[in-house]
Amino acid sequence: MTAHPTTATTDLPAQAAEVLRGLALDEDLKWRVPEDPVLGPVAARVARRFVAGESLTDAVERARRVIAGGHRASVEFMGESCRDEQRAAAETYVFLEAARLLPEGCSVSLDLSHVGLAIDSELALANASRIARATAGSGREMMISAEGSDRTDAVLAVHRALCEEFDHVGVTVQARLHRTAADLPGLLELPGRIRLVKGAFLEPRDIALPREDPALADTYTAYAERLADSGHLCSFATHDWDLIDHIDRHLGGRGHANAPWEFETLLGLGPDRLDAMAERGHPTREYVVFGTEWWLYVCNRLAEDPQRVLQALVDAAS
Ligand SMILES: Cc1cc2nc3c(=O)[nH]c(=O)nc-3n(C[C@H](O)[C@H](O)[C@H](O)COP(=O)(O)OP(=O)(O)OC[C@H]3O[C@@H](n4cnc5c(N)ncnc54)[C@H](O)[C@@H]3O)c2cc1C
Repeated sequence: MTAHPTTATTDLPAQAAEVLRGLALDEDLKWRVPEDPVLGPVAARVARRFVAGESLTDAVERARRVIAGGHRASVEFMGESCRDEQRAAAETYVFLEAARLLPEGCSVSLDLSHVGLAIDSELALANASRIARATAGSGREMMISAEGSDRTDAVLAVHRALCEEFDHVGVTVQARLHRTAADLPGLLELPGRIRLVKGAFLEPRDIALPREDPALADTYTAYAERLADSGHLCSFATHDWDLIDHIDRHLGGRGHANAPWEFETLLGLGPDRLDAMAERGHPTREYVVFGTEWWLYVCNRLAEDPQRVLQALVDAAS
């Protein structure tokens, strides 16, 4: 077989990203690596950059710092694909505690599969309803994350059911997924913030645009403009400067405290972006994650930008 070294080198970042996304979804590794006596502490040093800590107390403290820095905060207790009903109930309790203890101006984010969707939609709805009641009671938004495309129907169905009772429950849509074009009009009819992300999951081409496809930027900006023009509560959740600049220009280069939109980045990944947008008066939010199940989250963050893999090597040795 003929070797093609140039092609192989060019494709290396994409191949590495695919491997990392595959590792992220390995449910065996997500337990074994953090608990491994040798690998665990090394991986935890890498995670520290992106994760507030393992406890709710760590998240509360970090959210306070975000708010003191002039941004809103959102807190997620990490975890997904919980397949045990009692554990799903115990995890739900942590979100209820978060709704009670987080500072004002801080929303609660979650994966529905963390609270039962991987077991049964009814269970997810029951647990998510408890969290919706608790967050409504403490005056904070609740945001539902987007998961793999095999779960999108179920996620949107639970969100729609929650919207029959509550008006503060938002949902995340992925610009990469072809189906988002059809999902968005229905979501614009419902209350609750719509968070727009590129989409982090490994998906086939007939379901989603590849991340490296140049059409993704145009797709993202088209959805962002539609959200901005709708006046609906929304979040532009990206670290991509080109997209941020485009949306800022579309919004006239200035925001105000009561604007229905916000710019949102993940903990530690875009403080410069948030500060720049806050200076122009746009509402901004940092997404703070905490918990022991950081494996999937950290692998996905490393997969997204080759520079972060190099940074991870430095962090691992520090
Ligand atoms: C608040 C928030 C919530 C989220 N929630 C979800 C969710 O519920 N579900 C979900 O699936 N995803 C979620 N995500 C993740 C999201 O889908 C993206 O995977 C993630 O944000 C990375 O995409 P990006 O838009 O930030 O830009 P990126 O594509 O990461 O680009 C950012 C910058 O990274 C650099 N970069 C990227 N790739 C390369 C490369 N190959 N070579 C060199 N430089 C590169 C470039 O400088 C670029 O400007 C969320 C993200 C945020 C911010």
